[in-house]
Amino acid sequence: MELHSGSLYWPTTLKQYPEYPKLDQPAECDVLIIGGGEAGAQMAHRLSLYNIDTILVEKNTVAGGSSSANTGLLQFANDKMLTSFAKKLGEDKAVKFYKRCLKAIDDLEVYTRNLEFSSDFIRRKSLFYASSRSDVKKLLKEYEMLRKHRFPVSLLQPHEISTFFPFEKDLAILSDLDAEINPFKLVVALIREAHKNGVRVYENTEVLGHEFAKDSGGTHTFRTPKGTIEAKHVIYCTGYATAEFANIKKAVNNRSYAIVTQPVKDLSSWHERVLIWETKQPYLYMRTTPDNRIVAGGLDEQIKDPTDDPGVLREKGDELLRLVREHFPVIPDLAIAHEWSATFGESRDGLPFMGNHPKHENVFFLLGYGGNGSVYCTIGADIIKDLILYGYSPDSALTALDR
Ligand SMILES: Cc1cc2nc3c(=O)[nH]c(=O)nc-3n(C[C@H](O)[C@H](O)[C@H](O)COP(=O)(O)OP(=O)(O)OC[C@H]3O[C@@H](n4cnc5c(N)ncnc54)[C@H](O)[C@@H]3O)c2cc1C
Repeated sequence: MELHSGSLYWPTTLKQYPEYPKLDQPAECDVLIIGGGEAGAQMAHRLSLYNIDTILVEKNTVAGGSSSANTGLLQFANDKMLTSFAKKLGEDKAVKFYKRCLKAIDDLEVYTRNLEFSSDFIRRKSLFYASSRSDVKKLLKEYEMLRKHRFPVSLLQPHEISTFFPFEKDLAILSDLDAEINPFKLVVALIREAHKNGVRVYENTEVLGHEFAKDSGGTHTFRTPKGTIEAKHVIYCTGYATAEFANIKKAVNNRSYAIVTQPVKDLSSWHERVLIWETKQPYLYMRTTPDNRIVAGGLDEQIKDPTDDPGVLREKGDELLRLVREHFPVIPDLAIAHEWSATFGESRDGLPFMGNHPKHENVFFLLGYGGNGSVYCTIGADIIKDLILYGYSPDSALTALDR
């Protein structure tokens, strides 16, 4: 399954990165991680902090999947508003999940701060605006519930929005304690650190078959092109293709688009370089980069594969650029440097899939489906680490595969 098409930006931001060998002989480990994207990287990093004997295998190269198409916004607010989660899950559970997302951004800040290589984690506020007058009431309710539960938000009235930004909107929520990141650098840096801490990493090594353990607590056997791997535990970090092979019915794959502009001379009209998104679904979102570019994404379609038609890619790229110009008419000479389309996996209930296989012992999935995939992978790596180490995680019920 192709995960993206077009010209990605993030891989161009890192001139040199480590390469890892192919597995060419049989191997044994306590934990096997399948997949070298953000989920696998977070998982390998976390297990390496506990000296767990771990192997990570990636069928292509590290960070080459959806994680390099990610636009790198780290937000505690989800695609589903807190009010909407509260209706479905109950207010207590919904608030608990939102708070866990808020904490995950703090956790990721600490994890990245302790890595040898930077992943450009920068604290940002988020501006979540009402796309139309008819969304104002909904946004106000969302703000009230967020405030009630002491989330770090404030409300911006139209005159405040137009004071801070060169566009007009009817209402917006300004959230504190969000962040931006370079997702490609993040994966490379996490895996590098895990490798330094003893995790064995193999690229160009595809898992072709899984023979499940016969007895409780037994060993799982995995077939790769050059040798088998025996492992007591396995964590599938195989991204958006997993829903199909694991038959996860509550997941759906769509197509999304993103652009990155050429560097811009003056971004002073972009108040505090906040992350910007809106109430409309699918939503437009925008951020800036440390080298003064603008990233914009959205225009999601109910098609599961990325487009291989350069004409479609150009048309969608132009549409995203038009929307950026509409918001920031004061920024001259905006031009696209990179445009891509990508598969974007979501769950029907808005929650990721992270935890035990419902039937097989010591088999786990870490699938950060949804717009907050990076935040989810941060939470999920801690959940699965706890399940492996202690047989229990306080956060696992909401994201269980058989929920
Ligand atoms: C356009 C776009 C924008 C996004 N923006 C954001 C954002 O702003 N903020 C956010 O939080 N999230 C965002 N996301 C979501 C985020 O990118 C994903 O949640 C995250 O990348 C998922 O990482 P992953 O490791 O699960 O998947 P991947 O990065 O795809 O990694 C899975 C890896 O598994 C490997 N693999 C698969 N099968 C096998 C096998 N049998 N053997 C060995 N290896 C195998 C694949 O080759 C791949 O490298 C965005 C996603 C897209 C597409």
